[in-house]
Amino acid sequence: MKQNSNHSIQLDAARLRDLFHSGRRKKFVAGVRLALRQILAKLHVEGHYDQVITLTKQDPCYRELNNTWEELKPAVRSQKWQELMERLVQIAYGTRPYCLRCGECCLLGSPSLHLEDAELLSRGVLSTRQIYTLRRGEPVKFNLEGRLGVLPSELIKIKQHEEKHHCIFYGKNQKGCTIYDHRPLQCRVQACWDPEALEKLWQQEKLTRRHLIKEDQDLLAMLDVHDERCDPKKLDAAFTRLHDTGDLAVLNEVLDILRQDTAIRDFVTKKLNCKDEELDFLLGRPLVEIVRAYGMKVEKDEDGVYHLVSDQ
Ligand code: SF4
Ligand code: SF4
Repeated sequence: MKQNSNHSIQLDAARLRDLFHSGRRKKFVAGVRLALRQILAKLHVEGHYDQVITLTKQDPCYRELNNTWEELKPAVRSQKWQELMERLVQIAYGTRPYCLRCGECCLLGSPSLHLEDAELLSRGVLSTRQIYTLRRGEPVKFNLEGRLGVLPSELIKIKQHEEKHHCIFYGKNQKGCTIYDHRPLQCRVQACWDPEALEKLWQQEKLTRRHLIKEDQDLLAMLDVHDERCDPKKLDAAFTRLHDTGDLAVLNEVLDILRQDTAIRDFVTKKLNCKDEELDFLLGRPLVEIVRAYGMKVEKDEDGVYHLVSDQ
């Protein structure tokens, strides 16, 4: 589950180019009105237009830009326009500070679980087949900041639809959550009109595999072995080295880590009686999938030998 991005509300590129290059105030005013209608449609409150346009005209950011638009250079107009759009979104949300249960945040992804959510597993609302682990060191996109990076600590998330990436508990027919009364903490805190609430929650302690597998000593020992041998940080370091030095020997090291990951997965299903569907929770995503984040994929040749090749 991700926060809706303010930047997703945009006029089309040709109109924006014209707006920034012509510099005519009349076009600026018409552009603001059009953008506002799009923002209100996105927030499902088209009827708030009169109220929001009145508030916009009183806004210092809008007033300054309205007075100076014709004097600014196109690049400055473009930058100030972005700032104004964020302001308009805030103003519009100010007139709609509540959840409509539109389900759009559920379509953007799934929530991470916090300590409070452990009871959803003990009560059977969630099962280990419906969640997966992002291990420390995995390459991920940080939703709140929109940047790529390496995950600093482990997260457990609800699984997402394979192609569409929405939360598996999103019900298409009712356009909403199928476990609404038992939804995880992040979903209860989610408030598209108040991103700070989610930012604060993000600082709180997350649920990890070791919180959930307290008793099974064999499994815990296997997790330690897997985390040590198949540490995603080793992949990250190897691909960084490949990038910096061009040393292709790195690929053999990566293949060796991938082989160990596959072997441990086999062992856990065959010897520890775990189900295939639980592996993404117990051992995280297979490393053969994770290498795709580095632009590589694994292929088998005619002799059955695995190779890492470019995924471009
Ligand atoms: S928080 Fe509510 S109104 Fe906002 S996107 Fe999610 S479901 Fe829709
Ligand atoms: S658990 Fe429910 S509320 Fe939370 S993201 Fe999934 S569908 Fe939406």
